[in-house]
Amino acid sequence: MLADTLRNWFIYAGRDLPWRHTRDPYRILVSEVMLQQTQVERVVPKYHAFLAQFPDLAALAAAPTSAIITAWQGLGYNRRALYLQKTAQTVLAAYGGVFPADVALLRTLPGLGPYTAGAIACFAYEQDVAFMDVNIRRVAVRLWSDPLAAIPTDAVLLDTIHQHIPTGQGWAFNQAIMELGATICTAKTPQCPRCPVRVACADYAGRRTADEHLLPLPVRSLKKVAEKPAPRFVGSNRYFRGRIIDALRAVPANAGLSQSALYEAVIAYGEPITDATFVTIVTKLAVDGLVVLTADGIRLPN
Ligand code: SF4
Repeated sequence: MLADTLRNWFIYAGRDLPWRHTRDPYRILVSEVMLQQTQVERVVPKYHAFLAQFPDLAALAAAPTSAIITAWQGLGYNRRALYLQKTAQTVLAAYGGVFPADVALLRTLPGLGPYTAGAIACFAYEQDVAFMDVNIRRVAVRLWSDPLAAIPTDAVLLDTIHQHIPTGQGWAFNQAIMELGATICTAKTPQCPRCPVRVACADYAGRRTADEHLLPLPVRSLKKVAEKPAPRFVGSNRYFRGRIIDALRAVPANAGLSQSALYEAVIAYGEPITDATFVTIVTKLAVDGLVVLTADGIRLPN
């Protein structure tokens, strides 16, 4: 049975990651939000440091926002830090500090999409729910869809995944399929000969003959699996958003910087930016709640 094979493989081959040792929904949430767009190796030390500083929901909810943004340094996509705090405040105010277990209720929390809501329901409350991040989706497409047909919709893929979850084993199944996508069934070079479920894989079946004859394996185009090449980062708006926040992290939170001083600090990172673009990005950061505009300049939110 595929689920048993996956689980057994995960037991001996799965990485020992700290969030796999807890069922605390707060810790699961922190890990899942950090893992969005950030590699596991970078997340592990930040996860420990963040939890040391904000050990529970109440600590995060009550913390100065500037402290959370500062603690987020090195992870990128700083809006995630804001959403984390807003979620903590909402769970305290609306649910007495206890995360709801229902996926539909979890999705009403700030910044929680279907993936994160499903991950909390499964990894904290051990529910047999199906959800997809990029790794799960890639594995599901390759395992269960006809390589010569159109890629199934996400709804069809989720239904297929759900059908394969053995009752009461959602935690192990979803951890295993994520792990497979992260370590074996990778985007560019899936290691099919090492894959524990290759005999059940639709994608591999079409390439098995070539594999057995040691011929090059034509791997299904990943663009069809909706994985686009990463756009240039340095010099992008996202790059400058990060540098603006970095410059404000470097000064006392309540002080901030004048607009001209902040501009100088940003271009000191080495990338040119026009005044107009700088102002546009700062304005957008203020709209997003990541900075506050004052009469004296710009600072992180309290
Ligand atoms: S056999 Fe290859 S394509 Fe299929 S799930 Fe395993 S690694 Fe992915």
